[in-house]
Amino acid sequence: MTDTVTSTETTESVADFAARARAWLADNMPQIDPDNPPFSVRADQVSWDRAKELQKRLYEGGFAGICFPREYGGLGLDYAYQRAFNAECRSYEMPLILNVPTFTICAATILDMGTEEQKRERISAAVRGDEILCQLLSEPSGGSDLAGVITRADKQGDKWVINGAKTWSTSAFAADYGLLLARTDWTVPKHEGLTMFLVPLDAPGITMRRIKEVNGNEEFCEEFFDGLELGDDAVVGEVNKGWEVATQQLHHERRAVGGGSEFASGTAAENANEMPPDHVGLAEATGQGDDPRIQDLAGRALTRRIVKEQLIDHVFRSIGTGALPPNAGTLIRLFHAETTELEVDTALAIAGTAGVIDEGPGKDLNGAPELEGLLDIGVRYLSRQTGSIGGGTSEMARNVIGERILGFPRELAADKGVPFNQVKRNKS
Ligand SMILES: Cc1cc2nc3c(=O)[nH]c(=O)nc-3n(C[C@H](O)[C@H](O)[C@H](O)COP(=O)(O)OP(=O)(O)OC[C@H]3O[C@@H](n4cnc5c(N)ncnc54)[C@H](O)[C@@H]3O)c2cc1C
Repeated sequence: MTDTVTSTETTESVADFAARARAWLADNMPQIDPDNPPFSVRADQVSWDRAKELQKRLYEGGFAGICFPREYGGLGLDYAYQRAFNAECRSYEMPLILNVPTFTICAATILDMGTEEQKRERISAAVRGDEILCQLLSEPSGGSDLAGVITRADKQGDKWVINGAKTWSTSAFAADYGLLLARTDWTVPKHEGLTMFLVPLDAPGITMRRIKEVNGNEEFCEEFFDGLELGDDAVVGEVNKGWEVATQQLHHERRAVGGGSEFASGTAAENANEMPPDHVGLAEATGQGDDPRIQDLAGRALTRRIVKEQLIDHVFRSIGTGALPPNAGTLIRLFHAETTELEVDTALAIAGTAGVIDEGPGKDLNGAPELEGLLDIGVRYLSRQTGSIGGGTSEMARNVIGERILGFPRELAADKGVPFNQVKRNKS
């Protein structure tokens, strides 16, 4: 029973903690309709300012960083307390955009691999709502082969000098620090010559640009590093052991994307694209509610959603008992991406042309108010594949499942064991 769980950091039971959180939330956080929440827009600075403000409230109220250790600004409590808090905060506006990547990926990785100073400064600042963190991993030359990064860090005197480029960094424009993977030794095989750095994003030598996506969003950034200078205190983990840090970071990313991180506070959908489309509502709004073909389509998508929830539960339990290896989180990641695509495809199939026609501001399609919003389906269709790419593509997920869960032979790697400076690659 969760209400008998306690932690070494408190004598308060989970049930008492939840009751105290319930009272505090009612007095201090803005109430929302959980079925119709106010979504943040990652591309807008205003959403980040709001998230920081809400995080500060949580911190001052003693409900921030529930699972981060006390010495780094958190409460040092067990996951059961965070889960209890998540159940209580469903009806309140929460700084959900701070969960990924700031808390669940970056701060979690710093906690595992960072120096004492990095943990005290960066994790505390994030928990207080003062700083945002981002990931600087993918490069213009490709993101799947992460160990093949070519951004370089050269030691000159007591400084590291960084030159290169990163791309697809989610929300980097709003971030204060980024975890950057760079090559520090070109004479050894690719995994052995990497180092992870913690980079202040306002340092001289960094040029950042926003990337405009096909749906009009500008949430991603690209960064160019021209002689950026960092000290040894920026190294996360050990020099040339950056792959160990990156592996830990990817582990936290898979857990975060699968919804299983103890460092996420609040579990609601962060934006409208994460809400499952309302297929039944769409069918009724377009006058097709009684069409058996449409009912079949909607039923297929709804069934898939239910299977996904069951799969998440099954995989988490199986990892917990050791019946499946930790890599099995990749099964959820793949199924989630495919389910999202099916759900969005189904929504567009039901909406038909109504899903892609813009009648202009202030007008709807037939003057029928219930048709408003159908256009969102067309725009949403444009980003239906983000779940199949972000945090590693679905093809890479299949490789992981084949090689590390099912035990199939590893795919041939022509660069295995070859010093990186002798590996053939495109000129950049
Ligand atoms: C929503 C979202 C958020 C993201 N956030 C960040 C972020 O914050 N920071 C960051 O650094 N990056 C981020 N990315 C980038 C992401 O990590 C990369 O897009 C991803 O790793 C794929 O890299 P790529 O786009 O360069 O494709 P490539 O690596 O060039 O791959 C191209 C195609 O080849 C396939 N492929 C490549 N290698 C293999 C193989 N060995 N076997 C089979 N197929 C293969 C891929 O599956 C893909 O279809 C984000 C991407 C998205 C969509």
